[in-house]
Order: sequence, then C-alpha cells, then structure tokens
Amino acid sequence: MEKKEMLYEGKAKKVFATEDENYVIVSYKDDATANDGEKKGTIAGKGVINNRMSNYLMQLLEKNGVPSHFVEEINDTDTVVKKVSIVPLEVIIRNISAGHFASRYGVEEGIVFDEPTIEFSYKNDDLHDPLLNAYHAIALKLATREEIELIKSMAFKVNDVLKAYFKELGVTLVDFKLEFGKTADGSIVLADEISPDTCRFWDSETGEKLDKDRFRRDMGGVEDAYKEMMKRVFGE
Ligand code: UDP
Repeated sequence: MEKKEMLYEGKAKKVFATEDENYVIVSYKDDATANDGEKKGTIAGKGVINNRMSNYLMQLLEKNGVPSHFVEEINDTDTVVKKVSIVPLEVIIRNISAGHFASRYGVEEGIVFDEPTIEFSYKNDDLHDPLLNAYHAIALKLATREEIELIKSMAFKVNDVLKAYFKELGVTLVDFKLEFGKTADGSIVLADEISPDTCRFWDSETGEKLDKDRFRRDMGGVEDAYKEMMKRVFGE
C-alpha cells in the first residue's frame, strides 16, 4: 500500500490516505510534546521505536483476544492501520500512583494499588482533555453505555497482558493511556499507539524511569531510555 495525501498531522504522527478507503498509513515522528503542548522537542529515534514497539504490542494483544487497528508494518516508521473514527476518550489505566494521579490526590508516586484503576478524559485540546466519568461520556454522546463497557473490559485485559509481558522483561508497567476506534462496520478496536510516549515504565530492579517522563521532567537520558525499552522488547 502507498501513501497518498496527508489527512492529518498530530503531535507525534502523521496520517496518510491510501488507495483503499478502509486503510490509512500512520507515520511516526521524532517530535515530542508535553504539558498540554507547552513543551516541545524531539527525541532522536523515537519514531522508529514507537512504531515498532506499538506494532509488536498490538499483535501480542491481538493474540490474546484484544482486536486492534494494526494491519501491516511497511517500514521502520510507517504502518498500515484500519481507518477508524477515534472514540474521543483517553482511557487511562493505573497500577501504581504517578503523574497526575499523585498530584491530583496529593499522594506520593509509587503507591502500588490493590486493584488497577481506570479513568477517562475527554479528548478535546481546546478544553485541555478534561477528566470525565462514564455517565458524562454517555451524556455527551461520546460513546454508548455498551461501547464504554466494552472499552473498559478491553482496557483491563490490555493491562493484564502487558503487565505480565513487561514483568518478564524486568519492567514495571505503572500506568498507560489507550485510545479506541470504531471501524466502518461499527466494531471497537484498540487504536493509536502503545509506547514509552503513552506508558510509564519503571525498571523493576532500580526503579529507573524508562519513558517519556524523562522528557516531561527534563531528566536527561531520554533517548537512552527509549533505546533501553527497545532492547528489552526486541533484544537490540
Ligand atoms: N498519557 C498519554 N497522553 C496524555 C496524557 C497521559 O499518553 O495526553 C499517559 C502517560 O504517559 C501516562 C498515563 O497516560 O502513562 C497517565 O498519565 P497522567 O494522567 O499521570 O498524566 P501525565 O502526568 O502523563 O500528563
């Protein structure tokens, strides 16, 4: 499949049409933003790492019964995915307190929860992605009750699969954000990406951060953290 016109350019990816209206090509960039777009920069090699890692994880999830938009990786940065309409919700699962959970509720980072939590925010840049609950999402017609139930069970399943997978690699899955899409036939699939941009990964032994927090918090070693995650997943 070949790239036709660009349909959309986001913060970290471009989306191109293809000759088939059911598919689009996602092209991952090295560009990074944080703090609601306030902080901008580039992370060398990130596009390749996020593309390859996300595709690998989506295929792992597919094998474990979670359908996704993934179709085919065409090169290091570009992937054919099913064209979907994105459900305008960011779905966040947490196993350990960090980031906004810690600041919002005034607790330290690193508290291990007895059970994972789920939260939604409304994907809307003008409103700065406000937090909302399932009733709000239904009231705003962002999704139906049935779709939200399905999204919830898929998100917890993703957590079960990924938590166990990363544990084997010596990585603790702290929290992550998912997005879901609706295909032409109305089915809900996992979309967007799963990468160090969208997950918090802590080294299980040392607690070292191996994700985008190093960029968000100006900690240095950003590229090395992405490379280390690539090494854990692909051994290279
Ligand atoms: N996250 C994301 N995109 C966002 C906000 C959060 O991918 O726009 C991910 C983030 O990487 C982390 C999880 O969702 O793994 C929870 O993030 P949190 O709510 O703590 O917000 P953050 O501090 O990352 O802004």
